[in-house]
Amino acid sequence: MRQTSYIEISTSAYAANIEFLKQDLGPQTQLSVVVKGNAYGHGIEHIVALAEANGVRHFSTFSADEAWRVCQASQHNSQAMIMGMIDPEDLQEVIAKGIEFYVFDFNRLEQAIAIAKATNTPAAIHVEVETGFHRTGFEWDELKWLTTLLKENASHIRLKGLCTHFAGAESISNYVRVRNQIKQYRKFKKWFDAHDIHFEKYHTACSAASLLYPETKMDMVRIGIASYGFWPTQETYMYRFQSLPLDNKNPLKRLISWKSSIMNTKKVKMGNFIGYGSSYMAPRNMTIALIPVGYCHGFSRLLSNQGKVLIGGVIVPVVGTVTMNSIAVDVTDLEKVQAGEEVVLIGKQGNLEISVASFGESSQQVNYELLTRLPQNIPREIVD
Ligand SMILES: *Cc1c(COP(=O)(O)O)cnc(C)c1O
Repeated sequence: MRQTSYIEISTSAYAANIEFLKQDLGPQTQLSVVVKGNAYGHGIEHIVALAEANGVRHFSTFSADEAWRVCQASQHNSQAMIMGMIDPEDLQEVIAKGIEFYVFDFNRLEQAIAIAKATNTPAAIHVEVETGFHRTGFEWDELKWLTTLLKENASHIRLKGLCTHFAGAESISNYVRVRNQIKQYRKFKKWFDAHDIHFEKYHTACSAASLLYPETKMDMVRIGIASYGFWPTQETYMYRFQSLPLDNKNPLKRLISWKSSIMNTKKVKMGNFIGYGSSYMAPRNMTIALIPVGYCHGFSRLLSNQGKVLIGGVIVPVVGTVTMNSIAVDVTDLEKVQAGEEVVLIGKQGNLEISVASFGESSQQVNYELLTRLPQNIPREIVD
């Protein structure tokens, strides 16, 4: 193996997550799997393949490059939808390829209409409305002009969806704000209904909304983090815990494992500092092992003297600072540790497990951030 670490993606864990989500959604609601951020670090191509094997045919991305990769990877002509960035130069190709995309301002809408007219290919749009997230979306006072444009150009656009995004459905502290957003979204829908503008799909929910606010599920949900086996927050899990069946209290399963191997071991005498600077002084005669994974591989510097890894079925601590390419861990109490031995950074070894959340506890990173910072060039491998 030329790379210093590798990532395993579990087929069975993924299947279990999709099964749970589909059960939870019911038959009326389509599941769009969100694959932005290189599929939350899992690899777009791998997730598209796994998702399609589980019947998913709709994928949400942030940007055009990601949508391209979805189309390339798809074996079932799945639909890609861009929720964020499209360079105007790419819009023509997006429309030509039949990729759906969000329209949240007049700039993009007018560009899309112009291209659709010129190329005689309708643009497949999702109209995003501002309900309280305050980042993107049409405002209420823009509705008149928006309605006029949509009507006048009806033959050049396909109204695929009416959508919005919630500002923190994963935390009860945002309850009032989310409730107001739901109300505001309904107001928009009413306006369009009254003006005889109908959309193919009404969709608002991310993982947290879909798990906590059933009425947000509608025709389609855009699920990211839960499909990768993580509750959006601990709170979300606690809220749902009672309603989970007794024999399946843990329905979301992590797919990802991250592994490396020991590069070398070294004895360090009591009183010597380990690594750069003086953040760690050996409190006894020690043996350390060097692991060839550092912050350039997504192992945050914040995990200096904080992180933990698994070696020989035992949890051992990072000692000293995380460097660009490596970490040192304390293996003094392990018997027979040698170069080449497996190191688990995320995942199970023996009976123990390093969770993604444990990184969050020691480095203030949320699951989302740790996962998406795993570089694309770490090899990913599909396992059972
Ligand atoms: C990221 C994103 C989602 C998915 O969020 P999760 O919390 O990962 O389920 C849904 N909708 C939009 C607009 C997003 O940007």
